[in-house]
Amino acid sequence: MKFLKHKSKILKMRDVQIGGDAPISVQSMNNTDTRDVKATLEQIYELAEAGCEITRVAIPDEEAAHALAKIVEQSPIPVVADIHFRADLAILALQNNADGLRINPGNIGSEAKVRAIAELAQEKNTPIRVGVNSGSLDPVIRDSMGGVNSQSMVASALKHCQILEKYGFSDICVSIKSSDAMLTIESYRLLAERVNYPLHIGITEAGTPKEGIIRSAVGIGTLLAEGIGNTIRVSLTADPVLEVEVAYSILKSLNLRSKGPLLIACPTCGRTEVNLQKLAEQVEELLIDVKEPIKVAVMGCPVNGPGEARDADVGIAGGRDQYSIFREGKVIKKVKQENALDEFLQEINKVREKFRNEG
Ligand code: SF4
Repeated sequence: MKFLKHKSKILKMRDVQIGGDAPISVQSMNNTDTRDVKATLEQIYELAEAGCEITRVAIPDEEAAHALAKIVEQSPIPVVADIHFRADLAILALQNNADGLRINPGNIGSEAKVRAIAELAQEKNTPIRVGVNSGSLDPVIRDSMGGVNSQSMVASALKHCQILEKYGFSDICVSIKSSDAMLTIESYRLLAERVNYPLHIGITEAGTPKEGIIRSAVGIGTLLAEGIGNTIRVSLTADPVLEVEVAYSILKSLNLRSKGPLLIACPTCGRTEVNLQKLAEQVEELLIDVKEPIKVAVMGCPVNGPGEARDADVGIAGGRDQYSIFREGKVIKKVKQENALDEFLQEINKVREKFRNEG
């Protein structure tokens, strides 16, 4: 298969760049009532703390659109207004300083309405995301192109883009999501050949964490590995903070972003002579608040363990009733099982300190 590096223009929302050579940005969506400014801002702060770089809020009515002004003013990250069908709400959201708009111009009625949105968005330098979902495809396109498939998804996205382009608007980001990972992958591959707009990628309605994390990792990960995608959202039926954590795990797995530690742990096997699962879980717990992008390895035996442990910034490999602790490729000490966690934590903290001192 040909490696496709999708080239895109760059969009800006506050100081977040999307597209070009900018880092793949991480998005999420609030599940608070946007009219409740306090609750929405609290969740935005939690998301930002977890590393979310752009959030989206639903704008179902005028009150929510008006609440945006206060939310945007106090939010540490850009806030995108999510609007379906109503041009008046899109205009209100722009007037209330939304950092971005998610709307499908083909779904909002007359040309005059689209033109008014495009002109105001242009004036306020507000990017628009055209977001096509397989469940709500343009019915004319869907019926004339054999139903929901990658071609009809792309045609639908292009149609929405062309409506904006007609009014000279090109600060566009495009998404083309389905809950079916393979359909999503095929659609983005086609779309990447057709547009130079930044692509927002994700698997929509991926489900509860157990299934949704895997489906998102497969869909988003495949596309990113092919060079497709400029900004991502993992959609889960869960606390949106988890979406952000999973997004970073996907990006870290592909060496595309470094955020916080990377934990490598072996699956254990008949060679394991220590209680590795418990140790790995304890180390994972200890790493939750660690911000430094260090690589930590927790391995079960002297066969494959030392190799991985040496490769990490700090590692531990089990033996018979004892562990070897590694730093930067060398065994620095051997410790008893009962002291392993404390001793390993001390070394992790030394590595963190070194990382901070070296900037
Ligand atoms: S590192 Fe050792 S204990 Fe762990 S899975 Fe590999 S061989 Fe088994």
